[in-house]
Amino acid sequence: MSVDYDVVIVGGGPAGSTAAAYLAKAGLSVAVFEGDNFPRPHVGESLVPATTRCLLETGAMEKVEAAGFPKKYGAAWTAATSPNINADLAATLTHELGTADILFKERDQPGTDRDYTFHVDRSKFDLILLKHAESLGAKVFQGIRVLRADFDDPEQVTVTARMGRHEVGVTAKLVIDASGRQTFLGRQLGTKESDPVFDQYAIHTWFEGLDRSEVANSPEKVDYIYIHFLPITDTWVWQIPITDTVTSIGVVTQKKQFAEANLDREAFFWKFVESRPDLAAALKKTKRVTDFKVEADYSYAMKEICGDRYVLIGDAARFVDPIFSSGVSVALNSARLVTDDILKAFANDDFSKASFATYEKTIRNGVRNWYEFISVYYRLNILFTTFVADPRYRLDVIKMLQGEMYDGGKPEALRVMQETVAAVEADPTHLWHPHLGNLRVAPVDA
Ligand SMILES: Cc1cc2nc3c(=O)[nH]c(=O)nc-3n(C[C@H](O)[C@H](O)[C@H](O)COP(=O)(O)OP(=O)(O)OC[C@H]3O[C@@H](n4cnc5c(N)ncnc54)[C@H](O)[C@@H]3O)c2cc1C
Repeated sequence: MSVDYDVVIVGGGPAGSTAAAYLAKAGLSVAVFEGDNFPRPHVGESLVPATTRCLLETGAMEKVEAAGFPKKYGAAWTAATSPNINADLAATLTHELGTADILFKERDQPGTDRDYTFHVDRSKFDLILLKHAESLGAKVFQGIRVLRADFDDPEQVTVTARMGRHEVGVTAKLVIDASGRQTFLGRQLGTKESDPVFDQYAIHTWFEGLDRSEVANSPEKVDYIYIHFLPITDTWVWQIPITDTVTSIGVVTQKKQFAEANLDREAFFWKFVESRPDLAAALKKTKRVTDFKVEADYSYAMKEICGDRYVLIGDAARFVDPIFSSGVSVALNSARLVTDDILKAFANDDFSKASFATYEKTIRNGVRNWYEFISVYYRLNILFTTFVADPRYRLDVIKMLQGEMYDGGKPEALRVMQETVAAVEADPTHLWHPHLGNLRVAPVDA
């Protein structure tokens, strides 16, 4: 039976456009339906180096480099200036509590040929990737929202999209859901599950004229991503360079904190930022250049990430929390990892769920590692900075921060971190016990 396209992709964000690039490059006919018209703004501006391999393999790297995005060589975590710790704990620490920084070049990374990644204005970055997919032969339809996918016919999937006032059906052998947090298929199939622990909330905006050296650990680190811990439970601020003069700032906290504060967005943002007077003072000298934007209810998983004639990639498959800037990397790597299974499915003319088993196993392993790493961070964040400072674990932690999560089981540093958290939880007299956070995640079996 002939179909309109081999593959239809719902969503033209980083996941969809990267999948389109890989598949078009491999010779499949691919259509991407993107509901918005690009360029459009998007949260998620700081990349990790695990994106490099995908950008190189699809050939998009040259265009990304040419765009002149700020280069990201490392990441830093800062603490409120007077952390509330007792003298016994202070005596055990080899670093300033809650602070850390890393350089990506400290660890060689397979598949990457440079010691930096990028901070990106997503309106530009996503447009580059989408246009790149188009240049490789993918048909891209912007401003076209997909309404449903019909799997009744065992030989094909029919995707219905809204085109102006009409609905149009398009057939394919396979549909890829890359619809991001709109989770097109998860909603249609009823397979989406809110995360039982994380219920995060973020409020963010761009500022012009922040003197990043005022809040940097040292002059050569001004263009790192900064994660500023606030002296408020489970709450932190991101600082991401967008251009030489524009900086993205976002507050991430538990959603209930926003509800309890009962303030408007702007008042809430400043109330929280002012808990770090150093950061607030630097920001007060700048000019805000975008409206405050909110992201809420964003932590969820899917019961199924593949099935007969469909696969889910990027945020459409899962999203937890942005603390380690993992999202775009998961989007690109899920596109990379699913490509092998899709090409085999076409070779065997078999699009059953079982054909995507390797992808499912690998991506579930990767995102479980991310999830556990994030969970440990929230449960005991001084442990995270302590492990970064510990020479026994530093490279393993950097490996995770580079986004290398898919090549096997659980990273050793993560295993030890989980054991340490369990020991601290079990011992109320442990010096770290008072520093346990509220978000408690049951350990997941390896
Ligand atoms: C507060 C916050 C901060 C973050 N910070 C970072 C960060 O610093 N670094 C990082 O890497 N990640 C970060 N992320 C995550 C990042 O935003 C996502 O992981 C990333 O954008 C996922 O890419 P994607 O292609 O899967 O989805 P998206 O980028 O969301 O793209 C999905 C696309 O699908 C389209 N679409 C949706 N439904 C339909 C439909 N029915 N029909 C047609 N088109 C449709 C949408 O218009 C959209 O363009 C952050 C996320 C949050 C919530």
